[in-house]
Amino acid sequence: MRGCTGRRSRPDCDAAQRVAPGPGVRRNDVDIVKGNMGWIEVVVGPMFSGKSEELIRRLRRAEIARQRVQIFKPVIDSRYTANEIVSHSGLGIPSDNVSKASEILEKLQARTEVVGIDEAQFLGDEVVEVCTKLANLGKRVIVAGLDTDYRGRPFEPMPRLLAVAEEITKLLAICVRCGNPAVHTQRLVDSEELIVVGATEMYEARCRRCFEPNPAQARKEAGPVIMPRIRGASNGAA
Ligand code: ADP
Ligand code: ZN
Repeated sequence: MRGCTGRRSRPDCDAAQRVAPGPGVRRNDVDIVKGNMGWIEVVVGPMFSGKSEELIRRLRRAEIARQRVQIFKPVIDSRYTANEIVSHSGLGIPSDNVSKASEILEKLQARTEVVGIDEAQFLGDEVVEVCTKLANLGKRVIVAGLDTDYRGRPFEPMPRLLAVAEEITKLLAICVRCGNPAVHTQRLVDSEELIVVGATEMYEARCRRCFEPNPAQARKEAGPVIMPRIRGASNGAA
């Protein structure tokens, strides 16, 4: 582990503890951040890819390092305990509900060093300006969200957030049909609404081969399902 002696842990430090980079694995330059400078880390991927788990992991490590952390999630994602981010595997961390991105700035405490935001795709364009302001104020901003919608299209505002971020992590789930890496969130109900909040009966992870962008077709598809559907817990959806 290197470069971890500063007042805040850096994304690079976390990565270094997990796995040494292999050939072709690039690191960003946030390991040389000096002084009281902020930055933006974004964690993206489909549903079930572990975005909330990864967000919670980073925030817990910051808390262990005795940094002042504030965590926010959009009020739309209220399927679990009201003031908590919970992953599909049951991992949780207390959070503050916000109905719009600007509320994050209103609720921000001056001494906060790390700001976590889950399900950022539900917070609209404004979240990009809010994250930029937070980073400019010297905060470490960790944001998680879906990068594509139920049709596989880029899910605004995540692409804009990726453009202004210092560090990006793209996670994949496991395709429930064939076991390959899953980049898509398959909607299983026939709706053209961009946001349909739902559970595992409504969404599943699929690879690019098994993904069906037209939800009306999704349930009619033939072929064996080799992965068991995991029922019970659920999370944000698009
Ligand atoms: P996200 O925030 O990306 O929706 P979570 O962090 O809430 O993901 O949940 C990740 C967890 O979901 C995994 O650790 C695993 O226990 C569970 N899970 C359920 N279905 C799948 C799947 N198809 N692929 C990978 N993990 C899955
Ligand atoms: Zn597949």
